[in-house]
Amino acid sequence: MKTPFVNREQLEAIAAVYPTPFHLYDERGIRENARRLYRAFAWNPGFREYFAVKATPTPAILKILKEEGCGCDCSSLSELLLSERCGITGEKIMFSSNNTPAEEFQTAHRLGAILNLDDVTLVDYLKECIGEVPETVCCRYNPGGVFTLGQTREGFQVMDSPGDAKFGMTRPQLTEAFRRLAQLGTKRFGLHAFLASNTLSNDYFPALARILCQLAVEIQEETGLSAAFLNLSGGIGVPYRPEQPENDIAVIGEGVRRAWQEILAPAGLGDIPLYMELGRYMLAPYGCLVTRATHKKQIYKDYIGVDACACNLMRPAMYGAYHHITVMGKEDAPCDHKYDVVGGLCENNDKFAVDRMLPEIDIGDLLVIHDTGAHGFSMGYNYNGKLRSAELLLRTDGTVELIRRAETMEDYFRTVVW
Ligand SMILES: *Cc1c(COP(=O)(O)O)cnc(C)c1O
Repeated sequence: MKTPFVNREQLEAIAAVYPTPFHLYDERGIRENARRLYRAFAWNPGFREYFAVKATPTPAILKILKEEGCGCDCSSLSELLLSERCGITGEKIMFSSNNTPAEEFQTAHRLGAILNLDDVTLVDYLKECIGEVPETVCCRYNPGGVFTLGQTREGFQVMDSPGDAKFGMTRPQLTEAFRRLAQLGTKRFGLHAFLASNTLSNDYFPALARILCQLAVEIQEETGLSAAFLNLSGGIGVPYRPEQPENDIAVIGEGVRRAWQEILAPAGLGDIPLYMELGRYMLAPYGCLVTRATHKKQIYKDYIGVDACACNLMRPAMYGAYHHITVMGKEDAPCDHKYDVVGGLCENNDKFAVDRMLPEIDIGDLLVIHDTGAHGFSMGYNYNGKLRSAELLLRTDGTVELIRRAETMEDYFRTVVW
């Protein structure tokens, strides 16, 4: 059972001021979750979460996370400048980019960000485009092949194919990059890897930690260079479906602690900071897309038309992703109607739900589409001339704040050369 963080009366009051559709975020949920994360990793003295900005590039959200101790993980010029404008600079920025233009490395370096290199050729590229290599540099590892945890305790498969991913360096390239960086003047080295996405297993981070810890020890033996931090990146998932289990961040923290203790401590590296770049886990459950039923249509199937569309939330259209839907005020009604819930794009994949069992929906009902706090608004686009929606923040004190206004026609036409 998934319960929205607002009730129908609250939402109707909000919608009376800010017309649907809009994305709504829950400050309390964001803060409580961030605090749970920091508690789970309190055993590591330098622990830091760098929030993956691409998940929710919204200043009010970045500022809340900043207050909770998080930095920013950026991968583009706009994300760097956004972080800077939120007062997040220096080593509180991790620049985990790929296929990166010189200008973006220059900006990241000007801001004092930690550069996370995606390829061995970038060592000399950096030297060329910024004239030096920074004192601190991170390198991204890609072990190739297939990554699997086998059958996890939760009974789920975790599988991904790093061998087909464009990211990171091979094992020999990693050694080469460390040696070359050291030659050019780098003093502090980090290691990064991202092997699986949206994992619902408490075993993923501990397994990844073991791989990176082992790697740090090996590279130290090979090159004499010690890692200054390890970056486990993103990939902790959220249960989009009501029947899926939640990750237990305390269990994950303890599993990673054991890797530090068993592998790094004997090599004299037991105190090195642990960094991560979670996006989805930090925000997805603490945002929802609020939309209103505007049409009902019965042909070969029953359709509910809503005033949001895939431009507001692309995941269902793009990946067939499941997002739970609550019909507000009908939480206890039987789910005895089968609907496709659709937007208004001239694309047949513009469906938030297909063959979904829901309570009978009437025109005017408010629908909450859950777990859109990450990769929701941020993946928005303007197809069919649809305008981006507003973003609202439900403050801890129960008030609601507009944190991004809806686009207007004037915004839409702004870039046209008539
Ligand atoms: C997308 C991304 C993340 C965040 O991934 P989540 O699955 O949202 O945790 C972290 N690091 C990098 C480099 C990414 O591209």
